Parts: sequence; C-alpha cells; structure tokens
Amino acid sequence: MNEYDTEKMLEVLRLENYALTESQAEADLIILNTCSIREKAENKVYSELGRLRKLKSANPNLKIGVGGCVAQQEGEAIIRRATNVDFVFGTDNLFELPKMLNKVQKGEKIIITKRHARQKVRNFIPDYTFQQTQRFGVKAHLAITKGCNNHCSFCVVPTTRGVEVSREPENIITEARRLISAGTREICLLGQNVNSYKANGVDFVELLQRLDKLENLKRLRFISPHPKDFHAELSDAFVNLPSLCEQMHLPLQSGSDRILRRMRRWYTMETFYEKVGLLRDRLPEATISTDLIVGFPGETEEEFEMTMEAVRKIRFDLIYSFKYSARPGTRAAEYPEHLTEDEKSRRHKILLETQEKIVLEKNLALVGSTQEVLIEGKHHRKNNTTTGRTRGYHPVAVKNSKTKAGDLLMVRITGALPNSLEADAISTSPVIN
Ligand code: SAH
Ligand code: SF4
Repeated sequence: MNEYDTEKMLEVLRLENYALTESQAEADLIILNTCSIREKAENKVYSELGRLRKLKSANPNLKIGVGGCVAQQEGEAIIRRATNVDFVFGTDNLFELPKMLNKVQKGEKIIITKRHARQKVRNFIPDYTFQQTQRFGVKAHLAITKGCNNHCSFCVVPTTRGVEVSREPENIITEARRLISAGTREICLLGQNVNSYKANGVDFVELLQRLDKLENLKRLRFISPHPKDFHAELSDAFVNLPSLCEQMHLPLQSGSDRILRRMRRWYTMETFYEKVGLLRDRLPEATISTDLIVGFPGETEEEFEMTMEAVRKIRFDLIYSFKYSARPGTRAAEYPEHLTEDEKSRRHKILLETQEKIVLEKNLALVGSTQEVLIEGKHHRKNNTTTGRTRGYHPVAVKNSKTKAGDLLMVRITGALPNSLEADAISTSPVIN
C-alpha cells in the first residue's frame, strides 16, 4: 500500500513540475513515506531522518517531509523529535501536497493529519489525471479499498488508515484501463480487507468479473483478503475468470484457536482448513501464501507448536512471518505475558527453517512442469537470462531467452532453488506480447 501511495505522490509532484533525482544529495525535496506496522519499521524513520540532517546542512533549500502511517500516528511529535522536518502529512492527505509545499517553500512548518469525509476518500483519484503512475510498468498495484474496520488486537492499521472505504467501481476500471494502455499486463488489487469490497452495489467478485473482461489484462491478483470473507463464490472466480491467477493469500496469523480469539480474528483452525479446502478442491495446483505472527502475548510453547502443525499440514507456498511487535494504542499491547525478544526469535527461527524445507520440496516437485511466465526484465546477474513469475507467483529465471519485459511465455522448469525456479523457454509455444 505504501509503494502504491508513493507512486501517487510522485504523480502529484510531477504535475507540480518536480522531477526525480538519481541521488539524495541533488534533491530539493525528500519525502519519507513511512510504515508503522511493526516497531522496527517505525524506528527506521527516525534513524533515516538523523542521516538526512547532514544533507540539510549542505543544502539549506532542502525541504523534508514525512508522510504515511508513522506521520498519521505521531503528527507533531515528529517535528519536535526531528527538527529538520518541514512538513508532516497523514494517510488521507497526500493529494494536498501542492498546497502544503506552497506554504513550506515560504518557510512555514506544516502538520496535516486530518481525516477526510468518506465521499472524498471514495473518489480519491479523479482530481488528478493519472498517466503512467507506476514505475514497475508490467506489473502494477491498484488500491480498491482503504482502511480497515476489523480491529485485530495486534494491529495499528485501523488507527493509521482509518475506517474501511471502497472506491467507486468506475474509478477503479478507469485506473485499470490507464495502466493497461501504458503497458501493464498484471494488476494486483490492494486493500487491507480487499475481499470485503463493496461500492455502488458491486461486490468483490463482481469487480473481479468486470476487470477480467478488460482487453490485454493478462493477470489479476489481490492482496490481502481476510479469511472471514473468503467463500465458495470467490473460490469459483479462480476457476471461472481466465485472468485471475491461481494464487491466494490467506493470512492465518496463528494455528491456535485461543490465540486467534485473543487476536480477534473471528475464525478457528477448523474454518481455516475449510477455506483452504474451498480452493484446493477446485484447483489442487493453486498456490497459497499466508502471514504468521510468532510470540503473541501469552503464546505458550504448545500454542506455537499448533502454528507449526498448521504450517506442516497446509504446506503454504510462501509465508510472511513476523515476530509480534507491540503497537501503541492496540489491545494486545496491554495484554500481560509479553514474550522476550530471545524467545520470539527462537520460535521465528524454527518456523523459517521448517518453511524453507517445505518450499524447496515444493519447488523440486515443479521440475519438469510447464508454466506460464510473465517476464519482468533482465536477470540482474546472469547474461541472456530474464526473470518473471509463474501464475502461482514463483520467481523464475528463464535461460537463453530473447524475451523482454511484458512478454508472456510458456516455459519448462529445469531447476529448483530454495527461493526460485530455473526454466527454459518452450520455443514452439506462442509468445504473446
Ligand atoms: N489486512 C491484512 C494484514 C495487513 S498487515 C490481514 O488482515 O491479513 C500485514 C501483516 O503484518 C499482518 O497479516 C500480520 O501478520 C503482520 N502484523 C500486523 N501487526 C503486527 C504486529 N503488531 N506485530 C507483528 N506482526 C504484525
Ligand atoms: Fe490489521 Fe488486517 Fe486485522 Fe485490519 S484485518 S486490523 S489490517 S490485521
């Protein structure tokens, strides 16, 4: 979501005649777009601001701004702690950058973290005619909702991003069309609870159906769905919509029902297994990824073992795992029995080692199979090699291929590494541009 917001900021600034520089030393304006999901991300902001102090003494014209979730959360406190900061703006305020910069250029210090009315946020694009907003080109993100109404006990997002608002379907389609005409072949829809999307009577599945019809959109994905809103109709969409990749992110967080209750996740392991079944019964080859938190307050050794059991049973294709981090204003931060950093690290290491083995086994099982790959660019080390991803989201290095970014081709998998696959292009298959 932050990457997506950064692209929007770049577009707003481009229309104000700003251009990107290659190096920070040349910049007259530096904006940090911040994340506060875990404490580590938040700490980075202050160390980065400390580093920027030198640049400011070398270039007195340099203006420094802080946006994103830390800005929303901390507001004025940022300027008190880092006096070199000129302006701070919240997650609803990035379209006010031109107005802010006008004042900042006159020497004012600005702090704007005001939430906007639902309707304004709902239409947060039309004020600007976005052209090619994303630098990634072939693959692009597209936010369809913002905010979250769930209040999981560990999570700061509902505070920093506000209540859930779905964008008008027409705006989403317009933005998708613009991306496609600028060369995007794969769109990943974004939202904190992407599958609870609903606007103007259009629900998530209907939105997927509408996007699937867009000509030249080869692939559609979405992140992050909440398991509570994953149902049979959505699993059918994976079968029925040609562009929807057979890959699903389904964040589990913990394998223990007691911890899930304390996390306020509103599903049990039994219902989670049912949801996994909904997809695997229809599409056994579909890949499933997840998010897991280890060391939630009060998590016993047995409860951690339940998470490990879920990992071994479900055999996720990809795991994003995190050590629990207490966030200001969240319920879990007030819970007793916080685990030590050492204990959280020990559990995290066990989880990572087990998952590494599972991924390697799963990658080895793909050797010899035929896969569709969307090429994203040249390999950063190997000559005559391009890289891309399968529909299942496996990273693949395609050897001796004359293909370029945006090409969609069939490959044969020839090798498996812990985190990626190697492949040869199948020359007889059509290469679609
Ligand atoms: N809306 C998504 C999650 C967005 S945050 C969902 O509900 O799944 C991305 C991930 O960060 C979460 O799934 C969770 O695993 C992790 N996370 C969030 N808050 C955290 C915290 N306080 N400590 C550790 N990990 C956290
Ligand atoms: Fe955070 Fe996701 Fe829970 Fe919302 S659903 S509170 S974003 S973890």
